[in-house]
Amino acid sequence: MGGIGSGRRWCYGANNTTDDYRRLDVRRWQRDGFLKPNHSFSWQWTRHGETVASIQVRTEAERVILTYRHRSGSSDWKDESYPVRLDWTPCNFGGERAWFRCPASGCGRRVAILYSGNIFACRHCYQLAYSSQRETIDNRATRRADKIRERLGWEPGILNGSGLKPKGMHWRTFERLTAEHDAFVDVSMAGMRDRLGLLRGLGGL
Ligand SMILES: [Zn+2]
Repeated sequence: MGGIGSGRRWCYGANNTTDDYRRLDVRRWQRDGFLKPNHSFSWQWTRHGETVASIQVRTEAERVILTYRHRSGSSDWKDESYPVRLDWTPCNFGGERAWFRCPASGCGRRVAILYSGNIFACRHCYQLAYSSQRETIDNRATRRADKIRERLGWEPGILNGSGLKPKGMHWRTFERLTAEHDAFVDVSMAGMRDRLGLLRGLGGL
């Protein structure tokens, strides 16, 4: 350890008022000279002049160590501290360009920006997490709707619309099951729309 800048603490902020996403941009850190080894600084996000979040960063030769506290929902605060590897590629006009290696397990993609969640990770990791979680909710709703269809003797598949009341079933039971069925279909369809929107946003459709 030691060297120029060691032990000094700096406070700089992203000062980003339009974007709620807390993100780390390695290009900015490089441009502002924060990536030199053995250097500590505090990075803050502010909104309307108030600090809403901050992390501590310590640089080493090949990586940065991120240290911060976070909580999800109403759970207890949790301390996090882990390294994010740095990578360097040559620029066209000389010099080198810095990159983060995404610290999410099994990823390691070379990216300029990391987004906050429980850990900082690349856009790709968050999209995967988002869509698989979303899909689980939709699938559960679809399965439950199908179960009700089976009980009512309707044709399987939520896109096939509603059927008739089975003989011998009370109207009250039928109305309750139909309402439940429709609620599950709504959830499932909303998820489908979201997924199509997401794909369109990515230029996939
Ligand atoms: Zn990643």
